[in-house]
Amino acid sequence: MLYETQRAEVAKTALDLLTTGLVVNTSGNVSTRIGEHVVITPSGRDYKSLRPRDIAVVDLKGNVIDGEMLPSSETPLHMSVYESSPELGAIVHAHSLYATAVSTVFDQLPTIHYQMVELGGAVPVAPYRTFGSDELAEVTSQALLGRSAVIMKNHGTLTTADTLDRALGRCVTLEWCSRLYLTALAAGSPNILSADQMALAKKQMESLDQKRQAFDEGSCV
Ligand code: 13P
Ligand code: ZN
Repeated sequence: MLYETQRAEVAKTALDLLTTGLVVNTSGNVSTRIGEHVVITPSGRDYKSLRPRDIAVVDLKGNVIDGEMLPSSETPLHMSVYESSPELGAIVHAHSLYATAVSTVFDQLPTIHYQMVELGGAVPVAPYRTFGSDELAEVTSQALLGRSAVIMKNHGTLTTADTLDRALGRCVTLEWCSRLYLTALAAGSPNILSADQMALAKKQMESLDQKRQAFDEGSCV
């Protein structure tokens, strides 16, 4: 079967979205890119029973190449994001509760925690457009430029990465930071990290990554 491994990984990531409570029922969608092709979850199907052959294979225009089920209604959104960032390997779209709640009140999720470095800093809220529309694809991919996360107004989240695991991890981080922000707001006026503080946190993370790598390679620093 074409891209059997990647299709199995997409099905597993979709199931992870459900079991970790990031989505309910069949909301959200997941894709990964392999060169000129993208494998993407089918539209409106139960994540608990997805088999690799149910995951659609489409070209970069969204035309179906292989698969037994209709691809996600948000295929234009995924294609638009891959088109504007050719280096990307994976996209996760979720209707997670706290990030979606933030989108109904605010125009961005501010830098409430240093972990938002991995999202590219403050996360913008893209304007509302009808789900599955080319207009939604356009405004969302536009707002995402230069970062790895965006919130879609009154809709949900979209996170990107080189791998499915990392895109899912960013979805979890975005949801946790959204929950943190709303929880802090209920108690008072939360402190927001400055651009300088975020830049220092980024430097620290990069240095830790290097140390980890050097340690793994057996040359302690
Ligand atoms: P699909 O089931 O068609 O992927 O749609 C879910 C969704 O999140 C639409 O925005
Ligand atoms: Zn959606």
